[in-house]
Amino acid sequence: MMAVYGGKGRTLPPGTSAVVLMDVSFGAADVLPTDLVARVTATRQSAGADGKPGPMPKDSPVPATFSFDGAVTTVGKPAVIVQPPLRGKGWVAVNGCCDSLTSHRGAVMAVNGQLRVPERFAIDWVKLDDQGRVFTGDGSKLASYAYYGTPVHAAADGVVVNTYNAADEQVPSEDAKGLTTESIGGNMLVVDIGGGAFAFYAHMQRDSLKVQLGDHVRAGDVIGLLGNTGNSTAPHLHFHVMDGPSPLDANGLPYVFSRFSSQGVLPPGGDDAIESGEPAKIEARLAGEHRNQLPLNNEVVDFE
Ligand SMILES: [Zn+2]
Repeated sequence: MMAVYGGKGRTLPPGTSAVVLMDVSFGAADVLPTDLVARVTATRQSAGADGKPGPMPKDSPVPATFSFDGAVTTVGKPAVIVQPPLRGKGWVAVNGCCDSLTSHRGAVMAVNGQLRVPERFAIDWVKLDDQGRVFTGDGSKLASYAYYGTPVHAAADGVVVNTYNAADEQVPSEDAKGLTTESIGGNMLVVDIGGGAFAFYAHMQRDSLKVQLGDHVRAGDVIGLLGNTGNSTAPHLHFHVMDGPSPLDANGLPYVFSRFSSQGVLPPGGDDAIESGEPAKIEARLAGEHRNQLPLNNEVVDFE
């Protein structure tokens, strides 16, 4: 599967850039290659005096069509295994991997002179109530969201290496206000979980953090309360695993949850429907017990 953005279709106007995201799937019984290389072939056009594209001049020192190999991706490094950071039933994996270009996958950022994709495996967790609703009543009130304030649990043992606790709650369903690079994740924790992996817990309630910089946490410890701070338009827990302590200056790492069971998946557009207050319709795809897997986009899962 491939998604392209940054240009119109497959043509880039002068001076623009684009990002191509590719998922390469293998069958469960397939032998995996050790490396993957993307070979990119592009055709160059000249810009005419009227600004419209035209063929390259015959005497151009650069060929009209050229190919190059992208960076090598090593295959087979196992995903980081963590425990779910939440408890209870009916959690929806909003903006999850990988069937569409979500705000997480599309967040390719230039930070300190390098392109970073910190959120590529991130999930925004919201919870359905017994009627399959994210909220009841006035969707602009935090109290309408029954799961607001749910305890957030450490997904793995580790040491707190980054934290922020100065963000006030946002008003649900309104654009987030007062964002800076420091406060964009709201009140948050980054925990060094070893092996070059860091767990990131974002948007928690102000003053709900139970640990401080340098503290050791154990998997399962309550480390804060789910909130609506930072870049957030409804109460949710943003969780991902990354390769450094800075939520923006890092790349997302593949991770899996040791155990969860799945009710199924929301149909296309189902995340927008539940966020507007409609009860969830759940399709049975992916339903059942899962071990050491990543919940996929809009999957509805039960944790213990
Ligand atoms: Zn998020």
